[in-house]
Amino acid sequence: MSDSIVRTRFAPSPTGYIHVGNVRAALFPWLFARGNGGKFIVRIEDTDQARYVEGAQDLILETLKWLGIDWDEGPQVGGDYGPYVQSERVERYKQWAQILIDKGLAYADPYTPEQVDAFRAEAKAAKQPFLFRNFRPENPPVWDGSMPLRFKVTDIKRYTWNDPVMGELSAGPEALDDFILIKSDGMPTYNFAHIADDKDMEITHVVRGLEYIPSIPKYLSLYEALEITPPVLVCLPHIMAPDGKKKLGKRDGAKSVTEYKNEGILPEAMLNFLASMGWNDGTEQEIFSVQELIEKFSFDRVQRSGARFDENRLLWMNGQWIRRLDIDDLFNRVTDFWPESAKEVGDERKKQILQLVQDRLKTLADLPMLSDYFFTEPTVDWSMITDNKQLSKLSTDQIVDLLNAAKNELLASDFDTDAIQECLNHLLEITGQKPAILFSLIRIAVSWAPFSPALNDTLAVLGKNTVIGRIQLAIDSARQ
Ligand code: GLU
Repeated sequence: MSDSIVRTRFAPSPTGYIHVGNVRAALFPWLFARGNGGKFIVRIEDTDQARYVEGAQDLILETLKWLGIDWDEGPQVGGDYGPYVQSERVERYKQWAQILIDKGLAYADPYTPEQVDAFRAEAKAAKQPFLFRNFRPENPPVWDGSMPLRFKVTDIKRYTWNDPVMGELSAGPEALDDFILIKSDGMPTYNFAHIADDKDMEITHVVRGLEYIPSIPKYLSLYEALEITPPVLVCLPHIMAPDGKKKLGKRDGAKSVTEYKNEGILPEAMLNFLASMGWNDGTEQEIFSVQELIEKFSFDRVQRSGARFDENRLLWMNGQWIRRLDIDDLFNRVTDFWPESAKEVGDERKKQILQLVQDRLKTLADLPMLSDYFFTEPTVDWSMITDNKQLSKLSTDQIVDLLNAAKNELLASDFDTDAIQECLNHLLEITGQKPAILFSLIRIAVSWAPFSPALNDTLAVLGKNTVIGRIQLAIDSARQ
């Protein structure tokens, strides 16, 4: 395979769900691969057995699928560079380790934890940073797999590298040390395994979080020892918690991406939101289709400072995306969101109501609140009138008079949306009331819901009998 083909990867550890703070480590390399005719690979990094969580891998893959992030190689799809699960590549890491052993660049670490503690204390007493390389054993035993295998860093120098997002970065010799390559349980460390895998899988761009920057000099020293040209190393800034002060983490309530699915967020909106958090195309555009993102994405427009997580922006974007869907598409997506009261209702009627409330949905989960009163008789809640700034100024008699006038006019109407609008305008004239009062009153009397679509449309879809019946009920209950 030619070196010029872009190959990026997402390398999750199956330690839990993907939350909104870390999913860009999948999205950005995917956009980059898709925009450059490249390949996107998923690799499961499961060598830390203590942190392994059953079921996490499936959850991660489901999340990617829901977002539409597809992979060319990896679990479930295979590929020429497999296996794509690190625990199945253990023999390969041993081969890589052997290269270093043969070069005299790896050694068995014979120390007990107590001995290492003593070295650490010694360094501390001398006011020196603790570096393992200052305590190398003089005659290490032959490595038989029972002890950790450590890298022997020999070229102690300053490293400078160019990160397409963070710019030129540099770190001195204090960042270099003899790190563990293979643990005593036979598993490689992340530090070692990812370098071997990225080389074996011909990865051209490694994209991961900012927290890896301090370790990059170590990786560069290992690349050199293995005579590997490093891939392009890209670090993404953190997503910050809403207060802007700390990294968004699971402990700050960063939800799993799929939780948003259950809350009625569309994958298009989530993708758009995630991509435009800390990235823009240099214009004011905010709504991007996935195709546009693929065409426009580049690392050099990713912001260096951490982007703040703003859930309200996600809701706004979701509303925008819901509005753009055609009604049949939207109808298919809301199957699980209808209220109980819609259970026996036919598809055509449901679609008609959905069309009416489409513009008001911020999430699909708003559907019951916005549609329940179309399917079932709402509960009269007089506080909606007494708590309303305008309506609370009216006396009960005035309310009853207005409702009676509305009832009589609507009774005489032909009841299509135009006729209803005419009738409502006429009512404004004869009562001398403002729309904010009259229309709000009618809206509440027929729905007892906090929001409803345009009044004439709402009344038309409810139908004359229902509207008149509900207004009458409101009149009756006003006197109680
Ligand atoms: N397995 C690492 C993690 O989940 C991946 C880092 C990388 O992409 O190299 O954080």
